[in-house]
Amino acid sequence: MKRVAVVGGGITGLAACLRLLSSDANVQILLYEASDRLGGRVQTIREPDLGITVEAGPDSMLARKPAAMRLIESLGMAEDVVSTRPEATETYIVRDGGLCPMPKGYLGIPFDPSCVRPPLLTEAGLARALEEERLPLDLPEDDAALGAFLRARLGDEWVNYVGEPLMAGIYAGDIDQLSLMATWPLLLDLIRNHGSLVAASRALMAPSSRRQPGSSRSAFITVRGGLSSVIERMVDRIERSGRVEIRIGARVGAVTRRGAAYRFHIDTASGERFEEDVDGVVFAIPPQVAREIMSSVIDLPDVETHYQSTATIVLVYARTAFGPDLARASGFLVPRPEGMAITATTWMSSKWPHVAPESLAVIRAYVGRRHQDEALALSDDELARRAAEEVGRLTGAREHPVWLRVTRFSEAMPNYGLGHLARVERAEAALRASCPAMAIAGAGYRGVGLPDCVEQGERAADQVLAAIRA
Ligand SMILES: Cc1cc2nc3c(=O)[nH]c(=O)nc-3n(C[C@H](O)[C@H](O)[C@H](O)COP(=O)(O)OP(=O)(O)OC[C@H]3O[C@@H](n4cnc5c(N)ncnc54)[C@H](O)[C@@H]3O)c2cc1C
Repeated sequence: MKRVAVVGGGITGLAACLRLLSSDANVQILLYEASDRLGGRVQTIREPDLGITVEAGPDSMLARKPAAMRLIESLGMAEDVVSTRPEATETYIVRDGGLCPMPKGYLGIPFDPSCVRPPLLTEAGLARALEEERLPLDLPEDDAALGAFLRARLGDEWVNYVGEPLMAGIYAGDIDQLSLMATWPLLLDLIRNHGSLVAASRALMAPSSRRQPGSSRSAFITVRGGLSSVIERMVDRIERSGRVEIRIGARVGAVTRRGAAYRFHIDTASGERFEEDVDGVVFAIPPQVAREIMSSVIDLPDVETHYQSTATIVLVYARTAFGPDLARASGFLVPRPEGMAITATTWMSSKWPHVAPESLAVIRAYVGRRHQDEALALSDDELARRAAEEVGRLTGAREHPVWLRVTRFSEAMPNYGLGHLARVERAEAALRASCPAMAIAGAGYRGVGLPDCVEQGERAADQVLAAIRA
């Protein structure tokens, strides 16, 4: 029987395990996870006393990516899928210390002067953004910085107050250092298909385009018990197979060659060291860690991904702390020039029906983005106090939070830099050429979203299986 190791017990590693299990009955699997729990960034906070189920980490999955629903259905959880509340449509952006509605338009791209209300953009800033419709196509052939690309098309003011908080915010990144091709290649398709971003925004906001016939689901989905229940179901499947040895608190330190096989060197949380021989490996961990571990086997081209630390702060209020507008809000974004500790909030109980009882309002604040993460040095208490103070000031909350929780994510968010995809391709090609039974997958490579991670884990498992059967 062949043995395959999966390194990393986040959603990528778990998806790889399930694919290995479903594809070949003659493979034994060893799953190594350095921390004391499986799931990686996925962490649902469940507080039965308060009746809240709220995410500390990822909040939802993009429904249009097939891997999300495929995973949920394969786990028998289709009945548990939850859509966002249809009335929670309003996203705000902070300007000059106040909340302004996000411009009406696809991705906040205005398509006529009525899309933006002052003071979010000045008259000159709005006029500059609308001018984009008259620019020549002029699309980059190679990669470009997302910021430079958008600044040239829509102007600095739109980028600083709309584009950066929205598009770079997903990566906790700096828009001027992110790769266009690796983060928002969709923008190029929009221009190719519609002639400009402004025209694309107008076309996509037309009532005929906004209707999604046959779909009762929202653009983002989650499950009733929170995303940890997806992880729990994956782990349950893996355990019940009887073919996976799960080692929690087991950090893979190095891998060496052992004839045609690989020898793993593992340190446990209790200070033991042991070795294990395997025929194939899926590395579902950050690129730099994987590269270091395999350095005595292969000098892998460096993917050079910066990982940004962040924190989330869940703030639970009495529902009476806010006026009726809260029901229509899905959250707000904080542009860098506003100089606040929080970078954005999601109004979890307005957005999702399963998060809290009617008597409570749950807001989640984010802290930390590239070049603006000083607040992460604060203690948990100070960070929570600061987040509550900023949220209270912006929303006009009439009461203080009744409960709060800080969760830190150290070096959590990959920021794909210029040329990222070419570097990933070089690393993958080097592995295929020299070590075809080793594969790399996960948020550091080809997409940070949960569906992208699932897909990468499955693909890496297929690759390893093909190599060990050859
Ligand atoms: C605050 C936050 C909000 C997010 N929101 C969303 C969202 O709403 N929607 C969405 O789709 N995505 C979201 N994401 C992104 C998404 O959560 C991640 O990209 C995804 O969970 C990463 O999964 P992964 O398995 O690749 O990596 P991880 O979850 O990081 O798992 C890697 C695992 O490998 C382990 N490991 C590392 N080194 C070793 C070693 N040497 N030996 C053994 N084990 C090791 C780690 O302990 C970890 O458990 C969010 C992320 C964060 C932090």
